[in-house]
Amino acid sequence: MSPPRANGTNGNNHVEAADLNKNPPVPVDDDAAERLQELNLEILSPSTRAIHADDALNVLADVAPPVHVSTTFRYAKDPANLTPSHLRSDPLGSTEHIYSRYSTHSTSRLETILETLLHAPCLTYSSGLSAFYALLVFLRPKRVAIGDGYHGCHGVLDLYMRTSKCEKLPLDCKPEELDEGNLIALETPVNPTGKAFNIQHYADIARSRRAYLMVDSTFAPPPLQDPFRHGADFVMHSGTKYIGGHSDMLCGVLAVKNKASLAPMKKDRHFLGSVMGGLEGWLGVRSVRTLELRVMRQADTAERIVQALDYALSGHSVGTGLSKSDVEAIQAVVREVHHASLQEADKKTWLRKQMPKGYGPVFSIVMKEDVFAKHLPSKLNLFHHATSLGGVESLIEWRTMSDATVSPDMLRVSIGIEDYQDLLDDLLQAFREVAKLRQS
Ligand SMILES: *Cc1c(COP(=O)(O)O)cnc(C)c1O
Repeated sequence: MSPPRANGTNGNNHVEAADLNKNPPVPVDDDAAERLQELNLEILSPSTRAIHADDALNVLADVAPPVHVSTTFRYAKDPANLTPSHLRSDPLGSTEHIYSRYSTHSTSRLETILETLLHAPCLTYSSGLSAFYALLVFLRPKRVAIGDGYHGCHGVLDLYMRTSKCEKLPLDCKPEELDEGNLIALETPVNPTGKAFNIQHYADIARSRRAYLMVDSTFAPPPLQDPFRHGADFVMHSGTKYIGGHSDMLCGVLAVKNKASLAPMKKDRHFLGSVMGGLEGWLGVRSVRTLELRVMRQADTAERIVQALDYALSGHSVGTGLSKSDVEAIQAVVREVHHASLQEADKKTWLRKQMPKGYGPVFSIVMKEDVFAKHLPSKLNLFHHATSLGGVESLIEWRTMSDATVSPDMLRVSIGIEDYQDLLDDLLQAFREVAKLRQS
């Protein structure tokens, strides 16, 4: 039998070629920028901005952004329009591209959308850690105050310290130990527990010492938290997590309060070379469109699960839908639950202001025995046992697998967009299963 595809394929190619000749590609849409001018992004809600903030950069007739993978872009055809870069005073526009280590269509679109969601100009990087490294290289701090938190940021700081005389201080060092140009690197909510810190408190210290405050806000993406409202100078995100949202791209983001810093930081990035690829940029644009939908649902589900576990631990079950036997199953194996939503005293003072829309989709569980923590992931059906967080699928990690500084009774949970009751039921059956390990 001859394969019918061969003929069909040839025929299709022929037709496509003919159509292309009849219908040349739609020319660049010069009105796009003007249309966007009429759209006042500032008064639109984040969900609308995530869809329309890059309309001006949509210069083709495509509704969905095209995938651009080219590393290099043609200069103007008319010699009159050729200005060598060393003679240019104006920066390139967001639709002009030269070489993909400088900028590409998709990363420029992603940065344009992120700027409206993070309320400051943004630069994207190849990963969260390369974004943090770029910030250190740009600021050249002599001292960095940093707390526990994502271990990789400490790794980056150690690398930076290898090539500089920078000193590492604890986050809660004496303010007098900080000087002009030093950096406070605050992560909140913090990895792996999901507990929150008071941004304004550290901003006040930074201000009083003329130091900078950078907030790693990865665990509380927009619209949960805006660190600039509480005094941050820089906001960093591992865009690999919620901005990407589908566990399929690496991305780092730096949002910069002082617009004047943007051009030199962009120039640094030309030479660091730690840019996102065109394909990752495209994935980022596709993903950030649904950021608010995903994050609000994930945070809501996480808070409800945390509340159910916390009620059970404190002996309450009213209003949680938990049966007496569910409460016993939780109490048998779980020692503690950590999450910003449980910081009741802080909520009454600063925390509700800092996280008005929810407390983030990551929390941690401390089990009564290490062996429960080690086995729980293998008993779950709806949670992948994997590191990372922020994707649409729920993940759980026996955290000692990837972070040597974390005690082996701890599990980190990243809630996805699955149904609340399904996730809770899965946790409850897994608690019952690991409880058997003690009896046997
Ligand atoms: C994942 C993560 C990072 C590092 O980001 P990468 O994109 O993996 O480089 C930094 N900070 C926090 C809080 C993270 O969760």
